[in-house]
Amino acid sequence: MDVRLLGSGGWVPSDRRETASVYLREGANALVLDAGTGFRRLLTDPDLLEGVERVSVVLSHFHLDHTAGLVCAHALAGVPVREVWAPGRLIAGSTADDLVHRLLGPPFLAADRDDVLREILTGIHELEGDVTIGPFTIETRVQPRHAGPTVALKVNGELAYCTDTAYDEENAVFVRGARVLLHEAFHASDETDDPIHSAAGEAARIAAAAEVERLVLVHVHPLLADDDDLLGFAAKRFPASEVGRDGPLLGSTVFDRAAR
Ligand SMILES: [Zn+2]
Repeated sequence: MDVRLLGSGGWVPSDRRETASVYLREGANALVLDAGTGFRRLLTDPDLLEGVERVSVVLSHFHLDHTAGLVCAHALAGVPVREVWAPGRLIAGSTADDLVHRLLGPPFLAADRDDVLREILTGIHELEGDVTIGPFTIETRVQPRHAGPTVALKVNGELAYCTDTAYDEENAVFVRGARVLLHEAFHASDETDDPIHSAAGEAARIAAAAEVERLVLVHVHPLLADDDDLLGFAAKRFPASEVGRDGPLLGSTVFDRAAR
């Protein structure tokens, strides 16, 4: 499984980071966790879609730094299956179909509401719990500690993604068994009293409690001047920490089962 951070930042893009989006590839299947501004890399780096027959976007929630990139979903038109899986009923009190149509329909993007499923996407699916999408099995956990709930995701039991949550020790239970944890670290500190976001030290506590092999800090604050400021607080509690950067593959050997 190839993994690439399309956007390692949170809230708004910066010169160094697009906002939340993670790309995973298995053969002709691309799975994208969140569609923040980093999602535009599917347009600007065409290699990402080379040979792809199905793009499945799974949303952790609906905030714009996780969904605004869908503005370029038109660019996926050459991919036969283009779908969004969204936790509408699970966390947002409405259906995925309604919410995605609101996001991509008039007057925000498409000229006609029917164009959303005629020209932009081929499917909108309700993410209501664990689900299998092609070669990817997705486990879900509702995270209650954000401005409205969000969903933590675990893919193929190997990669866990916990973002837009304050420190939540229940996540360690959910993450356990995964090899790599992508956890938000919005604050360069050991702890924070922010009720909706985590500090680097808190992400590291989840990684240590879950006994993962590797922690990658994501949803980084756009005004973070030096990645080492963030890394220091995480590495103190969990040495195998790194600060996520847009673009490069996340050491594919970590996911290379054949090499294990
Ligand atoms: Zn966010």
